[in-house]
Amino acid sequence: MRVDNDFMVTIQNAEVLNSFVKAEREIERHDSILCSVSGGADSDIVVDMLTKLDDDRKVVYVWFDTGMEYSATKEQLDYLESRYGITIRREKAIKPIPSSCREFGQPFLSKYVSEMIERLQRHDFKWEDEAYSALLPKYPNAKSALKWWCSWHDEDLAEHFPSQSGKSSKWSISRNRYLREFMIENPPQFKVSAKCCSYAKKDLSFKIEREINADLVVTGIRKAEGGARAGAYTTCTSFDAKRGIDTFRPLFWYTHSDKEYYEQRFDIQHSRCYTEYGLKRTGCVGYPFGRKICDELSVIKHYEPQLYAACSNVFKGSYLYTEQYRKYVKEQKARR
Ligand code: SF4
Repeated sequence: MRVDNDFMVTIQNAEVLNSFVKAEREIERHDSILCSVSGGADSDIVVDMLTKLDDDRKVVYVWFDTGMEYSATKEQLDYLESRYGITIRREKAIKPIPSSCREFGQPFLSKYVSEMIERLQRHDFKWEDEAYSALLPKYPNAKSALKWWCSWHDEDLAEHFPSQSGKSSKWSISRNRYLREFMIENPPQFKVSAKCCSYAKKDLSFKIEREINADLVVTGIRKAEGGARAGAYTTCTSFDAKRGIDTFRPLFWYTHSDKEYYEQRFDIQHSRCYTEYGLKRTGCVGYPFGRKICDELSVIKHYEPQLYAACSNVFKGSYLYTEQYRKYVKEQKARR
């Protein structure tokens, strides 16, 4: 299909129209395109758009099976295949999330925080309440993680990292209120790591990109969704120099109402995760960073009890520690 005048006059939403124009241009400019399909609502729209424009069948649709997936998501993949006449490659994680978490540790709070804690744990850190200059001689190989741990103390860090100090920095432990105090009083008794992300998603995606010699990767990331995923980008297109590949996010500028417009205009049907379970997002099942994880878990327990049992087991340490941390923050706030 061409985004020509006949088509344009049928679209009454500027952002949706804009995304079609950009998508057509990106498909034309590239030869081998990987579209990462998640089975989530934004991904449904991306699949609809690309299948409308990809006359030359340059797009390879891939779903990454993390080892912890809703059965409703798997049904959605079947539905997309039959509606659009495409094949969605199901790629199993290099290491499924349960194995990763068992081997390396469980994610806690965010990927970045998990990575810092993992590094400190690797150096047998004792969660000391000391300044960077005092800690560095004891843990000389944990510099960057110590920088995170000590970033609550501006002057101390300013001396060592003049350009990067600052409590408000997203690289600072102060980003998570009272986290340092909490960890000093309650050192983690389980291994922390976000390696599940690399083995279940990132590294797997890189592998398939190389395999199909992709020159473009398309995802359904929207700026309005917020969080680290969307925050990592400032525009809908970019070049990833490390991987040597272009990336494109056709829905990057969509607001909620743009998305609704698209859904109605093109009769988009989402998975039962939305229509029956009532979830607002799908993403990683039961992932411990979610603010509404308790609500999400009770939904999973009701609709997919086996998956609930798996989440409770795989992320057990993280769930308990997160709950303990949130309680601590509440208490600290109440004291002030
Ligand atoms: S988003 Fe999923 S795969 Fe990534 S760190 Fe969180 S739980 Fe692991």
